[in-house]
Amino acid sequence: MAYIIDGKKISSEIKDELKTTVGQWKEEGRSVCLAVIQVGDDPASSVYVGNKKKACAYIGIDSRSYELPEETSQEELLELIRKLNQDDTVDGILVQLPIPDHMNEKEVIHAISPEKDVDGFHPQSVGALSIGEEGFVSCTPAGIIQLLKRSGIEIEGKECVVVGRSNIVGKPMAMLLLRENGTVTVCHSRTRNLPEVCRRADILVAAIGKPRFFDDTYVKDGAVVIDVGIHRGADKKLCGDVDFDKVVGKVSAITPVPGGVGPMTIAMLMHNCVEAAKRKR
Ligand code: NDP
Repeated sequence: MAYIIDGKKISSEIKDELKTTVGQWKEEGRSVCLAVIQVGDDPASSVYVGNKKKACAYIGIDSRSYELPEETSQEELLELIRKLNQDDTVDGILVQLPIPDHMNEKEVIHAISPEKDVDGFHPQSVGALSIGEEGFVSCTPAGIIQLLKRSGIEIEGKECVVVGRSNIVGKPMAMLLLRENGTVTVCHSRTRNLPEVCRRADILVAAIGKPRFFDDTYVKDGAVVIDVGIHRGADKKLCGDVDFDKVVGKVSAITPVPGGVGPMTIAMLMHNCVEAAKRKR
């Protein structure tokens, strides 16, 4: 029977570990602060920002909130980021994406100081990951490595197939699996014979953004399946990129949706904030 990887439990463990560390620092008079910037009032973004603030409160991280109106100019946003870069009391800076269309996302990401880039999106963070230097790693793939390690799943020497090559999930995922000595294949929309390539995987990471795309023809017996996708179906239920019911009988371990990869993203964001504070000192 497949082992269901419990992302809720593992993310709670990580948050509790961080809470202990931050609590000890508080006794020494040290604090950790995350600045969260939201431009506009997109309801989904407001939910994400709210969840991040809640996690901060639980761990004992101070969250400083900047809610800017939709019509804020690019220059005003960049000016705020510059101010926060120079503010010694701020350890991490997060700009909730997406930002309004009149803004240039690339320029905004580049403006955040790499020392405070807790989302791990800055080119310096991405470059550091690819050459094995210290830097912040994108939270979702970093969370997946924690899910595997804390579930006792070995990566070294395994055939790892990552489907999806986005800058925030697929590519950093591939680099992290490589860092853990996996043998990594990255697939995308132009990959030929996708089911055949996926069936080679000991560890399959599905991150394409297509509901229930991966059925049992994409997995080999005993594989570990990590489902990054998150969708709300017509029946209002959440589902992933993997057809869980069709695959679960064939695999050795699998992440559910919800309750798998999702909760890890915020836990790793909190981890990066604490790490930023540690490095600063
Ligand atoms: P993107 O849309 O940025 O990238 C999708 C990738 O999948 C692209 O590289 C694309 O290939 C590839 N792809 C699309 N269709 C196919 C196909 N039919 N066959 C093979 N490859 C395909 O998505 P993200 O990486 O941002 O997100 C992926 C999923 O993960 C989404 O469902 C998203 O909601 C979810 N997600 C979940 C998070 C969480 O916390 N749980 C966090 C982030 C994302 P190409 O490059 O050739 O176009």
